Amino acid sequence: MPVSIHPEELGALRGKAGFVFATLNDHFGTPAFTGGGDPLDELIATILSANTNDTNSGRAFDQLKTTFGEDWDAVRTAPLAAIVEAIRPAGMYNQKAPAIVATLERIKTEQGSYDLSNLATMPADAALAYLTSLPGVGHKTASIVILFCFNGAAFPVDTHIQRISQRVGISSRRASPDKIKQLWETLLPPETFYPLHINLIQHGRQICRALTPQCDRCPLQAACDYFHQANEWSVEV
Ligand code: SF4
Repeated sequence: MPVSIHPEELGALRGKAGFVFATLNDHFGTPAFTGGGDPLDELIATILSANTNDTNSGRAFDQLKTTFGEDWDAVRTAPLAAIVEAIRPAGMYNQKAPAIVATLERIKTEQGSYDLSNLATMPADAALAYLTSLPGVGHKTASIVILFCFNGAAFPVDTHIQRISQRVGISSRRASPDKIKQLWETLLPPETFYPLHINLIQHGRQICRALTPQCDRCPLQAACDYFHQANEWSVEV
């Protein structure tokens, strides 16, 4: 969803966003979207991924599939304790299990099945509105489904992307993930979202780390507010 930016600021921010996109492509390569997975699988996997790492949420998802097969109806109607046991590695299982059941109930009632492939033909805003209307599904989860299943026009913001956006100066230091999502969606065209999302996460893991940013070897130095401010202070001192 586009956000309103003052015209004087818009040109500079667009230039910075374009620089970040192009520079990370040069540095890490340009990841290509090669087709997405099943949207309901992605939705449930993303619900499981809240507040845990990929390894734990992946184990929980695999155990859910091993326990119930490909049968989402079996998950929806299972005793909650059985779902809790299957998804235990993901943590917060007492919240995630009922959220999964409530989501499956809504989808079954509204779609008549567990098929969300109709989202592929919706405008991204409409798909986002539907997904965020589901119990416990926020903008980040919905955007992940839209981007990773359909290469759609939604830009999910995780903790790496939030941190880099704030440091580089795409957003203010206090901007929320939703605000940062709107900024990137305003500044760059949708075809950049998939490679940019992947590369920003690589950048956050390898170079712009939370506690120890590797500014000396960072290709984004020239455009980074955090880097320039840190150097101004060290010159003054
Ligand atoms: S220069 Fe430093 S703070 Fe800026 S993006 Fe690179 S690593 Fe992060």
